[in-house]
Amino acid sequence: MDLTQNIQAVQQKLAAAAKAAGRDPAGVTLCAATKTQSDAAIRAAIAAGIRVCGENRVQELTAHLEADAYAGAEVHFIGHLQTNKVRYVVGRAALIHSVDSERLLRAIDSQADKLGIVQDILLEVNVAREESKGGVTPEALPALAELALSCPHVRLRGLMAIPPVSTVSGGNRKYFAQMRHFLVDIIGKMSDNYSVVDCLSMGMSGDYEDAIAEGATLVRVGTALFGPRPYPAGPAR
Ligand SMILES: *Cc1c(COP(=O)(O)O)cnc(C)c1O
Repeated sequence: MDLTQNIQAVQQKLAAAAKAAGRDPAGVTLCAATKTQSDAAIRAAIAAGIRVCGENRVQELTAHLEADAYAGAEVHFIGHLQTNKVRYVVGRAALIHSVDSERLLRAIDSQADKLGIVQDILLEVNVAREESKGGVTPEALPALAELALSCPHVRLRGLMAIPPVSTVSGGNRKYFAQMRHFLVDIIGKMSDNYSVVDCLSMGMSGDYEDAIAEGATLVRVGTALFGPRPYPAGPAR
């Protein structure tokens, strides 16, 4: 396993997928999903060109921040976030991908208020309506988006999804396309045209090329960069 080679290979496939879709590869950010990785592995990934790391767990985020392991990159929070842990994430993560309830949204807004900052967020959508997964239902999304746009210390940047692990190639394209439509709907209803709501965080090691074909602007890739994880810590929860 050669991390540098893996990163280059994923970046090449990302660029090819963007071009095939008639898109500028610069419009797709590679976020390295670093759960279970060491400080050393994260530093090596950044040295090899990674500019965004995505962390799942508050404990790992805190430990890597203390070690200054993300120096040279920004860190995003991509895992399930409990309301009582927002203080460890707000102001530390450049983007929180996983906001999926009014309660969590209000907790983030209030913590950002305390810090005197505006926190960038995405709303996570349970696009495949899986019981085991977090994310707001498609029906509840418009109201949550409206609330997010009205929170003074939160800046809604877009949407995120974790569709099921697809067993067939192209199996998740329909979900990725739905996500694009959800984002277009939110933008269409926005009265405030100062906000920039343009981020679609979707696609993982097995399906990021399909996600890019459907408009992903940020793909979260772990295994294809770092190899299989030492213990199961998938996005399921
Ligand atoms: C682990 C994880 C990823 C990356 O998964 P891979 O299949 O290893 O690429 C992406 N998003 C989230 C939220 C994750 O937890």
